Amino acid sequence: MAPIIGKAKAAVDISIAYLTGIRHLFHRPYTLRFPQQRYAVEKGYRGRHLLHLDRCTGCGICAWICPEKCITIVPRGQRWYPQYFYGRCCFCHFCTDYCPEFALEETVEYDIAEYTRDRLVWSPERLSKPPVKKDDKYVFSVDTIGGASQVPQKEE
Ligand code: SF4
Ligand code: SF4
Repeated sequence: MAPIIGKAKAAVDISIAYLTGIRHLFHRPYTLRFPQQRYAVEKGYRGRHLLHLDRCTGCGICAWICPEKCITIVPRGQRWYPQYFYGRCCFCHFCTDYCPEFALEETVEYDIAEYTRDRLVWSPERLSKPPVKKDDKYVFSVDTIGGASQVPQKEE
C-alpha cells in the first residue's frame, strides 16, 4: 500500500511542477529593467538611513548595537556623529531601533550601490540629506500573481 501512496504523491508533485511551469508561460515577468523601472516600496521600508543631526547626541549606541560593525562615530567640531560603511550594512536597522534620540530613520532609498568602496562610506553630512525623488517613468508592484504590474507614482 505504501509504495502506491508514494507513487501517487510523486505524480501529484510532478503535475503541480508542470502546471506551475505552464502558468509562468502566460503571465508577465517579475524582472524589471532597473534602473529605468523599479519596484514601489512603502514608507517603513528598510533602505538607507536618514540622520537627524540636530537630534544626535553622539552617544554611540548605534555603533555599539550594530552587528556588522559598520558604524564609526566621527568628530565634527565639538560634536560626534555616526558615519556608515554601507559595504557591510545588512539593513537590519537595529541602529535605528536602538537610537534613544530617534535621530535615525529608515528611507525608501535602496539603490545605493557604488563602483568603489570609498563611495560606500557615508559621512554624517551625506546621511543627513533626505533621499532625492527619482524621476522614473515606471514603478511596478508584485502584488498580483500575474507578474509585475505598473502602478501610478504617488505624489510625495
Ligand atoms: S544616531 Fe542615535 S544612537 Fe547613534 S550616536 Fe546619534 S543619538 Fe546615539
Ligand atoms: S542597519 Fe544594521 S547592519 Fe546596518 S548600520 Fe544599522 S545596525 Fe548596522
